[in-house]
Amino acid sequence: MKYISTRGLAPALSFEDVVLTGLAPDGGLYVPETLPQFSKEEIASWAGLSYQELAFKVMQPFVAGAVSDAEFKKIIADAYASFRHDAIAPLVQTGHNEWILELFQGPTLAFKDFALQFLGHLLDHLLKKRNQKVVVMGATSGDTGSAAIEGCRRCDNIDIFILHPHNRVSNVQRRQMTTVLAPNVFNIALEGNFDDCQNMVKASFGDQSFLPEGRQLVAVNSINWARIMAQIVYYFYAGLALGAPHRPVAFSVPTGNFGDIFAGYLAKKMGLPIDQLVIATNSNDILHRCISSNDHSKHQLQHTLSPSMDIMVSSNFERMLFDLYNRDGAAIRQLMDDFKSGAMVLHESALVKARELFTSYGVSDDVTVDVIREVFDRTEYLLDPHTAIGVEAARQTRRRQDIPMVCLATAHPAKFPEAVRKAGQGEDPALPHHMSDLFEREERYSVLAQELAKVQQFIASHVRP
Ligand SMILES: *Cc1c(COP(=O)(O)O)cnc(C)c1O
Repeated sequence: MKYISTRGLAPALSFEDVVLTGLAPDGGLYVPETLPQFSKEEIASWAGLSYQELAFKVMQPFVAGAVSDAEFKKIIADAYASFRHDAIAPLVQTGHNEWILELFQGPTLAFKDFALQFLGHLLDHLLKKRNQKVVVMGATSGDTGSAAIEGCRRCDNIDIFILHPHNRVSNVQRRQMTTVLAPNVFNIALEGNFDDCQNMVKASFGDQSFLPEGRQLVAVNSINWARIMAQIVYYFYAGLALGAPHRPVAFSVPTGNFGDIFAGYLAKKMGLPIDQLVIATNSNDILHRCISSNDHSKHQLQHTLSPSMDIMVSSNFERMLFDLYNRDGAAIRQLMDDFKSGAMVLHESALVKARELFTSYGVSDDVTVDVIREVFDRTEYLLDPHTAIGVEAARQTRRRQDIPMVCLATAHPAKFPEAVRKAGQGEDPALPHHMSDLFEREERYSVLAQELAKVQQFIASHVRP
């Protein structure tokens, strides 16, 4: 299968090359040229498969030719061996036809483990085969960094450098990164904010001449296609558990960069009968404004109780726009050019299509806290703030009560104790057993000034030979 850029001017790439690249040279994001289609009969025949078996069925068409079936099965088995729950993505019921899909059973307690455990093992496999070493560089405001580090810590052919804003990530989030003492893991605490971190990463991708001879940077943020691909699987897994393909299902997705919900849209296109997809946002609601009133304009960043969704612009939305504009690369170039001014207006036909596919809703911090409290009072089930936003958005926009509504639980509540505390649930939620000593572990990180040359020099001198 070939992968093409949303802006239409970059050469098509193979799966292997697309995993090892960041943005396309024309500034676009890569998407598959065609999508695999599964018939109702085929999907029905997958009922009862384990998560790993299902992952193989769903993803195999995307990687065919690049990775052999036996090797691919091994990559999947290794990726999900680190999850605590046998179901990998278990379902819990919180109301009539209302379900929580727990995507936080991986090593860092957030759904990003699904993609990054997989990506780490996949990269390691591809690099070994090519006899190549790479440098992973990324910026994080919290969850992505720890998931990427956990995904890469055992990869011989990767050195990973993660920048986080010094003193501006939560203690749990920082410790999840800095207590990984593997020889290929480097945490940089930058004296700046998240945007400063991200700008350093962008600049470094743009000019990689600071790296030692023969090394290149690989992106592990959600523009990496393999991450999106791995996230398609759990939509099928939850759907099958709730009666698909014989009956439809609906999903509500706490959304930041639009990676997770884009995977849901792809699952639908591949044959899963999804009746409704809910875009749930916090008060950083550019996507909700776009869908509800065609207002896709940058607002100032708000710091909320659901920090992993604190974004001004959703980078993966461009992949969606590409389809909404019938895969017209020139139209996307124009749109993105317009957006440089801070706002874009969708064409009427694109907006109509978007509204058929998605409903949307924005949830304030106050309501988030109310939902955590209310769900706990009735069910004794504790939601994390991101998940609570998904639950509220589902309740507010749900079209049909007779169709199971699956709310994606993107993080474990112990990761975001502030919101839980505000909800008045007494003590902080306990960390799962394997992390209970997190606050006693040794930390390792380097504080660096906000100077590109310093950061690049640090990387160049720490890359292992
Ligand atoms: C990253 C993240 C999100 C947002 O996911 P996107 O794919 O960026 O939309 C939501 N919740 C949590 C806990 C996250 O870590």
